[in-house]
Amino acid sequence: MSKVRLPVNKTHWTQHSDCAVVNAYYNRIENSIYFPAGILQGVYFNEGRPNYMNYGGIGCVITHEITHAFDIQGSQYNEHGILVNWWSNETKKAYNEKVKCVIEQFNNFKAEEINMQVNGENTLPENIADIGGIKNAYSAYEKILKEVGEEPNLPGLNYNNRQMFWLAAGTAGCAKLRNEALKLEILTDEHAPRKFRVWGLVTNMPEFARDFNCSKTSKMNPDKKCNLW
Ligand SMILES: [Zn+2]
Repeated sequence: MSKVRLPVNKTHWTQHSDCAVVNAYYNRIENSIYFPAGILQGVYFNEGRPNYMNYGGIGCVITHEITHAFDIQGSQYNEHGILVNWWSNETKKAYNEKVKCVIEQFNNFKAEEINMQVNGENTLPENIADIGGIKNAYSAYEKILKEVGEEPNLPGLNYNNRQMFWLAAGTAGCAKLRNEALKLEILTDEHAPRKFRVWGLVTNMPEFARDFNCSKTSKMNPDKKCNLW
């Protein structure tokens, strides 16, 4: 009660104390990103392993959360978390046009096993965060790759460093669901099912097709790619 009518302290530790959660968040009314200790381990991050794994893992999570500040909801809040329009009409118009590509792309993803399409509108903010995020994570990885040079392969995996980045991103992003859970997710979740999230990550990136030498007719290298920034 002592806090009633006092200004909210957006950075107080009690607002950010879920340390064991394996997840990450962007909070638009704080304009903050939040990475609990729980996600800074496992497939996402380890300080002793090659950069391609960390950039493909936690790197994609961090850039995903940053990009939420520019999704269709986050973009309506300014740098202080206030709901105010800070976009020029021209930029907003161009953005809305580009976003249509993402809606259409995800509307066309179909979970064959349950005969259901993904809902591109309901999952749009997450898909924007994924597509914008991987682009930044990959360019950050290319920067560190130039700085430190090629790192050793993992035992038994005959892939180059760039290919390993994609494998790490896919590994951190994937999940296998029973049909019932898949149906529930398509009907109610703000995220597209994991398989389609990973497809969204790779099919929109010409760098993925280049790194794996995908042919022009490959399913993971469609002509139409969504590029927001
Ligand atoms: Zn998200």
